[in-house]
Amino acid sequence: SKEINTKWAGKTVHFAKETDSTNEWCKRMSKENAEHGTLAVAEFQSAGKGRLGRKWTAPEGSSVMMSILLKPEFEPQYASMLTLVMGLSVAQAVCELGVEVSIKWPNDVVVSHKKICGILTEMGVQDGKIREVVIGVGLNVNLKEIQDELKDKATSLYLETGKTYDRNRLIGLVMEKFEINYEKFVQTCDLSMMLDDYNMLLANKSQPVRVLDKISPYEGVALEIDKDGALLVRVQSGEIRKVCSGEVSVRGL
Ligand code: ATP
Repeated sequence: SKEINTKWAGKTVHFAKETDSTNEWCKRMSKENAEHGTLAVAEFQSAGKGRLGRKWTAPEGSSVMMSILLKPEFEPQYASMLTLVMGLSVAQAVCELGVEVSIKWPNDVVVSHKKICGILTEMGVQDGKIREVVIGVGLNVNLKEIQDELKDKATSLYLETGKTYDRNRLIGLVMEKFEINYEKFVQTCDLSMMLDDYNMLLANKSQPVRVLDKISPYEGVALEIDKDGALLVRVQSGEIRKVCSGEVSVRGL
């Protein structure tokens, strides 16, 4: 495996054959004062997590499951944008392997409309300050088969390209991209320094979408994201609405 070319992101890497969830593992390490940038990588998760209590499942050994521990200085309100920062970083890393990849706002990295990566950001707050942020990444790399339940919405790099990829190289690439993007992010606490990069990879761009707002769902055309990570959607009347992640989900039509 190759050396990771970063200053702090993934400088310390812990590998395990199996863990419950790399996010939980990172939180435990945080309690033991592990430093900013510590990376946890596992071959198998017995209790892999997605958003909203969903599960992340992958067979042993063929995907990348990892979580990075961060100890940001900024206020808790900005942390959710790190999901987008990581999504961009994963997409850029995959792009560098020559695979045509895009980002389905806010948190899915997709290849030919199917999900190859999920991202879960969790934060611990104490006395109004961030204690830690953990960002988990599940990336389907060399999976030769997708479970039946996920067949129409998930895929892997192998299934899309017929090639297998060095997982450690990919981990290194993601860390390199993430470190660059994170350092841009903390300068302004928004995405202004990577907006063009993100929007270039945005899968929803110019696509009709349905915004599943619980109170009043609506349809429109997705335009781009703004510096706060919101998706701008133009509705029939011409009005442009700002869709914040976390509040609603967006589906293609
Ligand atoms: P969705 O992608 O279903 O719209 P979401 O973005 O909230 O929802 P995540 O939190 O990123 O989803 O991940 C959990 C979901 O991802 C699960 O409900 C399951 O549908 C799907 N999933 C689980 N394991 C995998 C996998 N290895 N590859 C792709 N998708 C997976």
